Amino acid sequence: MKTAPAPLAARSTQGSHITLTDGRSLVDGVAAWWTACHGYNHPHIRACAEDQLKRMPHVMFGGMVHEPALRLASRLSAMLPGDLERVFYTDSGSVAVEVAMKMAIQYRLNRGETNRTKLLSFRGGYHGDTLATMAICDPEEGMHHLFAGIMPSQYVVDLPRDNASTSAFEAFLNEHAHEITAIVVEPLVQGAGGMLFHDPAVLRRLRDAADRHGLLLILDEIFTGFGRTGTMFACEQADIVPDIITLSKALTGGTVALAATVARRHVYEAFLSDNPEHALMHGPTFMANPFACACANASLDLFETEPRLEQIAQINLLLREQLEPCRTLPGVKDVRVLGAIGVVEMEKIADPAALRTRFIEEGVWIRPFRNIVYLTPAFTITPDELSALTGAIHRVLSQGF
Ligand code: PMP
Repeated sequence: MKTAPAPLAARSTQGSHITLTDGRSLVDGVAAWWTACHGYNHPHIRACAEDQLKRMPHVMFGGMVHEPALRLASRLSAMLPGDLERVFYTDSGSVAVEVAMKMAIQYRLNRGETNRTKLLSFRGGYHGDTLATMAICDPEEGMHHLFAGIMPSQYVVDLPRDNASTSAFEAFLNEHAHEITAIVVEPLVQGAGGMLFHDPAVLRRLRDAADRHGLLLILDEIFTGFGRTGTMFACEQADIVPDIITLSKALTGGTVALAATVARRHVYEAFLSDNPEHALMHGPTFMANPFACACANASLDLFETEPRLEQIAQINLLLREQLEPCRTLPGVKDVRVLGAIGVVEMEKIADPAALRTRFIEEGVWIRPFRNIVYLTPAFTITPDELSALTGAIHRVLSQGF
């Protein structure tokens, strides 16, 4: 609080705009941390939310179920590849990943495999801020390094991207696979770790290694899920089916918190037992909140009725065309685009707060972090709004940040 610049006071949101209490309006390049995929305040989500609010905002999900949660689960399982069909609801991305980790550990315990309790994840990765998820993030991750030594220890290695890292990965697995229950990875894009992209072949390599070594593969699609990388789910581009997938962020179209951990049938079957202790040991109070599930169902309606994947393809073209000129600006290290994600990587941003302020002066809401300036707009953004964002990036970076 002592060092951060004062936050802006938001009054209302509409489409790709955030209006401040002082009357200024900013074009949003972040879509509320990658959640508001249909733009803010979409009338269909609002109508479904209002309707659910009148009937049943919440009811406990222990010993009781309800239509919004059941419908959402069957729709998710129909959309997801393979037999990813068992849905466990929580209320945030971090908790969804914690549940995936716990599921992978208890999967072994229920089968009498007591030595396979470790998780294997990758440098550059980010999976949440809770204690267990911090332990599978990149250990150098800016927000977490203070806790090194306190967090449970896990294995964090390099992604097998090329021959050398693939050999190192294989050697590591030969030595340690017997202690590991699952591999955890963000498919195609490591988001909060620096918007680092990798090829679908890397994911196929991980699926193959997991199969050979008897490991589960957990894909964290909290950022990439629901169209962000150009397909509904990033794993489709690698044509692989993970054993467990985590979803959140755009799940409710950015309206309200909800997350899901979805498992394949064989994972579920390890918990289906006459022994009550084999049940998954987790039960959050607001699990499957009906209001949140209704918003998520409304968001899925929009993916069916509005041309989201076409819009994403169009955004992709515009981002490529309009960010490419940044490549020759001073201090720019790389420009990359995937789906509706546009990234300008700088050598270094000396003062990210000053850079944010410059963007606000330009009438745009863009939140650089570390050495990354990025756009993850709503899929409904207009070409003019998108040009306002890319134009501001080019103008501001031209001034030498
Ligand atoms: N996994 C990924 C890939 C994420 O991007 C995030 C959030 N940035 C999380 C997990 C954690 O989600 P939450 O902030 O909702 O806890």
